[in-house]
Amino acid sequence: MMQNFSLRAGTIIDHAARYHPGREVIGRSVEGPIVHSNWQEVRRDAKRLSAALQGLGVQKGDVIGVMAWNTVRHLAVWYGIPGAGAVNHTLNPRLFAEQLVYIINHAEDRFIMVDPDLLPIFEAIIDKLPKIEKIIVLTDRAHMPESPLELLCYEELLEGQPDDAPWVEGDENDPCGICYTSGTTGNPKGVVYSHRSNVLHAMAAAAPDMVNISSNDRIMPVVPLFHANGWSIAYSAPMAGASMVMPGRDMTAAGLYEMLEMGVSFTAAVPTIWLGMLEHLKSGDLKFSSLKRVLIGGASCPRAVIETFQNDYGVQVLHAWGMTEMSPLGTICSFKPEVNALSPADRLTVQETVGHPPYTVDLEIMNDMGECLPWDGITQGRLMARGAAVVQRYLKGDGDAVDTSGWFDTGDVAIIDANGYVRITDRSKDVIKSGGEWISSIELENCAIAHPGVAEAAAVAVPHPKWGERPVLVIVPSAGQDPDKGEIMSLLENRFAKWQLPDDIFSVEALPHTATGKISKLELRQQLEDQGYKLPQ
Ligand code: AMP
Repeated sequence: MMQNFSLRAGTIIDHAARYHPGREVIGRSVEGPIVHSNWQEVRRDAKRLSAALQGLGVQKGDVIGVMAWNTVRHLAVWYGIPGAGAVNHTLNPRLFAEQLVYIINHAEDRFIMVDPDLLPIFEAIIDKLPKIEKIIVLTDRAHMPESPLELLCYEELLEGQPDDAPWVEGDENDPCGICYTSGTTGNPKGVVYSHRSNVLHAMAAAAPDMVNISSNDRIMPVVPLFHANGWSIAYSAPMAGASMVMPGRDMTAAGLYEMLEMGVSFTAAVPTIWLGMLEHLKSGDLKFSSLKRVLIGGASCPRAVIETFQNDYGVQVLHAWGMTEMSPLGTICSFKPEVNALSPADRLTVQETVGHPPYTVDLEIMNDMGECLPWDGITQGRLMARGAAVVQRYLKGDGDAVDTSGWFDTGDVAIIDANGYVRITDRSKDVIKSGGEWISSIELENCAIAHPGVAEAAAVAVPHPKWGERPVLVIVPSAGQDPDKGEIMSLLENRFAKWQLPDDIFSVEALPHTATGKISKLELRQQLEDQGYKLPQ
C-alpha cells in the first residue's frame, strides 16, 4: 500500500521553498519599487499570514475576498489564506459595483484583503456588505491610505508571527478558492476549487504537452490572479520550481515589456494584451531578449498574432482554451507527432485550433439530444467536458451543473478533428444561425482582424425575415485609420462561402467589453436593437 499524500495547496509552496528556496520571485510592488524575493520568503510570509488570520479569528471554511494586482505579496496571500483553512475568493476590480456586492454577499466573505489603490471600491460599497468584519490593506504602515473605514495593515499583522507554524490540516476536498463566472446573463455563478482539484490541475497544466514549465523557466502571469483561478499559474509555477515575475498593476504594453525583459521565458494573457504588445514592439523597433513561449487564451487568438510572435520575434505561441468552471485549463495547442509532420503553413492552421486536453480533462461534442458527434474536423456540436478540475455544482446551486453522465455543457460550440484537436467556433449564444446553417462569428472576426486597419471586430447575428439571422460585422479601426470595407469583404471572400459573408460591415469607436476584457456580444446586440439597426436591403 502507498501512503495517502494529501493534495493540499500548502504542499506546493512547501515543495518550492524546500527544493527551490532561492529561486527568484520578482515583482513590481504596489508601493512602486521592484522587489526581489524567493520561494522561501514567499512561504515564510504565507505562514505568517496564516497565523495572523487565525489570530484574528478566522475559522476553517471562512471565505476571504481578495482584490489585488499580480504582486509578490499576492502570492503569499494565495497560500496564506488556504494555509489557515480559509477560502480565497478572488475579486475582479473591473466588476460593476452591484456585481461585487452580489458575489461578496453570496460567497459570505468575512474579511477583505485589498491593494491600497483599490480601497475606494470598498469605501463606495461597504454599507451594502453587512458580513464584512475586517479589511486588510496589502501594504506597510507608511503606505496605508487615509480612509473613513477601519483598516488593518498587512505588514503590521505579519510582524512577530511564527515563520513555520503548521498549516491548518483538512481534507483534500475542502474548498481552497472561489472564482465567480463573468455572468453575461443573470447573476455571476460561484465556482469553488478544492485543494485537490487545484493540485491535480496544476500538475496537469505543467506537463510538457501543456504549458511545459520547469525550474529553468521564469514565468510572468499577465493574466490577473483574479481571472479564472489565475490560470493556475500561482500553483503550477512553484510546483515546477520556476522563477516568477509579477508585473504589478501597470498593464500598459510599455510597463509589461519592461517586466518581460527581466529574463522572463514564459508568459500568459488574453489576445487583447498581445495585440497591444505587438504594436508597441513594432513602433519602438523592440525585440524580446529572453521570451520563448507565450500562452494565449480566454478568447480566440487571431492567426496574425500567432504568426507575428513566431516569425518576427521567435516566440512560440500556445493557443489555449479554458473557462472558470474548468480551473480553467481545457485544451492547449501543442504539436503531437501527427502535427509536427505537417508543413509550416499547415501547422499554423492547426494553431488556430485550441489543441488537445491534458490528462484529467475529457471532452465530447454533442448534439441537442445529447448524442456524441464524430471527430471528423467538420461536424460542429456543443462542447462538453468532465474531469478532475471541472465544476460539479455551483456554489449554493440547486442541483448539479452536469448531466447524468457527469458532462458539463461548456456553452461553447466546437469541432474536433481525428487527432483530437478542438476548434472553438462560437459561444452557443453567439453562433449565427442563418437558414438552418451555423456561421462562426469567431472565424469571421479573426479573418477581419488580419486587415491592418482593423483593431477589433465582432460578428453578431441580426434577425432576418427569411434566413432567421444574418451576420453583421462591427469593427473598431486601428488608430488613425479608416479601413476600406470592400477590402475587408475581399479578405472574407477568400475564406468564406457567399452565404456566410456579413450583410453589412460598419465601424464604431469602441465595442462593449466584459469585466474580463472580452467583447460583450450580448450588449452589442442590445445596442444594435436599441438603435433600431436595420440590415441593408
Ligand atoms: P471565462 O470563464 O471568463 O474564462 O470564459 C470562458 C470562455 O471564454 C469559454 O467558454 C470560451 O467561450 C471563451 N474562450 C476561452 N478561450 C478561448 C479560445 N482560445 N478561443 C475561443 N474562445 C475562448
